Amino acid sequence: MKSLISILLVLLMSKPGYSQNYEELRQRMVREQIEKRGIYDRATLKSMRKVARHQFVPPKYRPHAYDDYPLLIGYNQTISQPYMVAYMTQLLQPKEGHRILEVGTGSGYQAAVLAEIVDKVYTIEIVKALSEKAKSVLNKLGYHNVEVIIGDGYQGLASKAPFDGIIVTAAAEQIPPPLLNQLKEGGRMVIPIGSPSTVQTLMLVTKRNGKITTRELSPVRFVPFTRDKDQE
Ligand code: SAH
Repeated sequence: MKSLISILLVLLMSKPGYSQNYEELRQRMVREQIEKRGIYDRATLKSMRKVARHQFVPPKYRPHAYDDYPLLIGYNQTISQPYMVAYMTQLLQPKEGHRILEVGTGSGYQAAVLAEIVDKVYTIEIVKALSEKAKSVLNKLGYHNVEVIIGDGYQGLASKAPFDGIIVTAAAEQIPPPLLNQLKEGGRMVIPIGSPSTVQTLMLVTKRNGKITTRELSPVRFVPFTRDKDQE
């Protein structure tokens, strides 16, 4: 009986159904949107080829999960365009053994992309409902090395600091000082800086011998970094 069930399962799974379709769409997304635009980091590409992005978007948008634009995830928030996720991941230079802090969990997709590469991802989300949704998807997909925290990421996560990398996926007017303090020596931070109503600048922040260096990269558009009034 057991073997009959497994044969049936194998037959079902090899049928060119939805999941097969998503797999093909994902490989094409990486080739056409990511590699063609110059992303070369092997770990980033490998992870983008693997993470099931369609699981992180609302069911009605699943057919568009691998398209070349951001999608709405509810509560006025978005999951970034696939290329932006790949670009920011490559900039962080994530490696096995690293511990990364993300501010702005959103759907949890960026956290999963990092979790494929590094040892541990801590991700903070200010909207409780999004945080809970992301937590359950990450759990279901087996990303047990991601810890989802509800709260205002402005304060970072002092109890787990310092981090090899910090990624902020909401646009802040300036770099939150607690995040600078929680960056490890030699670490990298990627953060969009600027007014929420306009185009912002993606910044790469590095710390060497305790000295902070910032580099302006490209114009980007992110949802606003909000603040929890209780914590101000
Ligand atoms: N990285 C996400 C995209 C996030 S969109 C993904 O892969 O899907 C940005 C997210 O940042 C939103 O969900 C928003 O609610 C959250 N956010 C905004 N300000 C925040 C803050 N101060 N602390 C934590 N999360 C914040």
